[in-house]
Amino acid sequence: MTRPGKQPVEGEFQGLGLWLDTSWIKRRSSVGVRIAARLAVIFLVFGIVQFFVVRGITRRQFQDIERTNLLERTRQVFLTFDRESAFLKTLTTSTAAWRDTYEFAIHPTQAYLARNYGGDWPKTYNIDFVLMVGMDGRKIWSSDSYPAFPLMGPGLFSVDRFDRNNPYIFPQGFLFSHDYQIKPTDSFTGLISSDGRTWIYCAHAITNDDLTGPPRGMLIFGRLIDAKTLSDYVSGLSDELTLVPASAIPLEGPSDDRTIASEFSSYGGTYTSVQTEGDRLVSYSPISDFAGKLIGALRLSILRRNEAAGTHLVWLTSLSLLAAALITLFAILLAIRATVILPITRLAAYLTAQGEGRDEVLKMKTQRDDEIGVLAEQARVLITKVKEQHAELESQANTDRLTGLPNRRSFDSHINKEFRRLLRSRRGNQKKGQMAVVVIDVDHFKLFNDTNGHVAGDACLRAIAESIRSCISRAGDLACRFGGEEFVVVLPDTDEAGALVVAEAIRLAVEHIALPHTTSPVAKVVTVSAGVAALEVEENFQIELLIEWADQALYAAKNAGRNRVVGSTSLV
Ligand code: GH3
Ligand code: MG
Ligand code: MG
Repeated sequence: MTRPGKQPVEGEFQGLGLWLDTSWIKRRSSVGVRIAARLAVIFLVFGIVQFFVVRGITRRQFQDIERTNLLERTRQVFLTFDRESAFLKTLTTSTAAWRDTYEFAIHPTQAYLARNYGGDWPKTYNIDFVLMVGMDGRKIWSSDSYPAFPLMGPGLFSVDRFDRNNPYIFPQGFLFSHDYQIKPTDSFTGLISSDGRTWIYCAHAITNDDLTGPPRGMLIFGRLIDAKTLSDYVSGLSDELTLVPASAIPLEGPSDDRTIASEFSSYGGTYTSVQTEGDRLVSYSPISDFAGKLIGALRLSILRRNEAAGTHLVWLTSLSLLAAALITLFAILLAIRATVILPITRLAAYLTAQGEGRDEVLKMKTQRDDEIGVLAEQARVLITKVKEQHAELESQANTDRLTGLPNRRSFDSHINKEFRRLLRSRRGNQKKGQMAVVVIDVDHFKLFNDTNGHVAGDACLRAIAESIRSCISRAGDLACRFGGEEFVVVLPDTDEAGALVVAEAIRLAVEHIALPHTTSPVAKVVTVSAGVAALEVEENFQIELLIEWADQALYAAKNAGRNRVVGSTSLV
């Protein structure tokens, strides 16, 4: 049967628009395997799509997390800077306000130096240089480690330029930026770079205790920002913080990387640029000196662990989902097998058996309330009906309509069956057995028809058939209508003498009905003649021969005057 429209192509199916060669599955498998194949393809496609979608999303999210982490670490570095400078500021402010510092600025003494900056003091407070300058801009005193910055460099101004008329306000000052308005109560922190080294420093005016007297000079504490200092700034073991020259800053960072910009402007940083460098994520935060000149960048690099961990996680999730899908698939198949495939297989086996003529029972509950139950019940009803009709047709085919006697077809199968049975029993007990037939023909029946009409002729045949049937009693004996007005009786396990008795009984029975036959030259009633023959049952037994002999005996009976019985042995 073909459906109109698109024809399926052998070996292909269009599930999800995918091409997949499933011809091998179709050839050798059941519905279950096909369902499994289709479900597996669907699961696989969804799995792959899901894997890539999830991986894409996760990768982005993990990248974001990593960037946020880096920026947060960068923020922490700058906060550490803030703490550092706050500490420096406290130290500078308190030292600058000491009375002896104030006096030292006027009359420097070794005693003050020994008292305050001797011994381990610089080391204890992490101070790398101390510088004291007078109001005239000249150095009062500096520690040996003072790097001697060029005092007149860009952004550096001599204290000569301090406004002596208003000693509290320094429009410009030593190690201050141009716009820094200093009062004695204020201090200034900033960065300064020289000879490839960078310091963070704090400057404060040297005044009297209550910070009201005119400043006598400036006190400056500086701390070197070297590799060790920077490594102390970071917490992560694999984090690397270095100070790189301005030339190492990548020219352009994506615009959304400029996140920390304003927060660190006190160090001149205007933005933080994030770069991926191999397995590391790196931030560059430019820093400037007190005069606003770019002096380099803080380069913080962290290991990119998250993204790999994320991909790992996605793989793990996908594999566990795949396992779950396989288990689900297996469970679905088991369910389909139990609820659909097995019942259908049983139904198919039942129908096949019926088709092949085997009488099997349907091994399935037909009491199910579902479609398969209905199908099974209908199949059972249909098979029962077909069997009934088959039996009906069979009996119709084997029965003569007019007389109700078995017909010629029945005669053939019956005599064959009896022949085989006799042969079997003969082999068993070595007894000799014979098969006999009686062929019966109505005498002058043409004349009867001519006289009484065909309808009466039919009624006559029915009556004769009834008489013949009444003379047959033994199991295995069978009376048939052989055609026209001829009947034949099969008598298994009977010799000619026995058959002659039966034939004579039939002849008498017919005569006894006493159907008037006015035109018969033989008698006043309808009579029959019969020919009898019997044959030994053996391997090469010929049924045709037996019938022919009986026919010859019948012919002899007719010739001898009708209404009689003749045995074939009497003919020789
Ligand atoms: P004989 O004694 O030699 O047998 O003479 P007969 O007339 O019986 O022989 P024949 O074979 O010449 O005639 C048989 C007749 O039987 C011919 C036919 O009209 C009649 N006949 C055969 N079948 C039927 C039937 O089914 N119904 C009726 N009414 N007549 C039948
Ligand atoms: Mg005849
Ligand atoms: Mg006849």
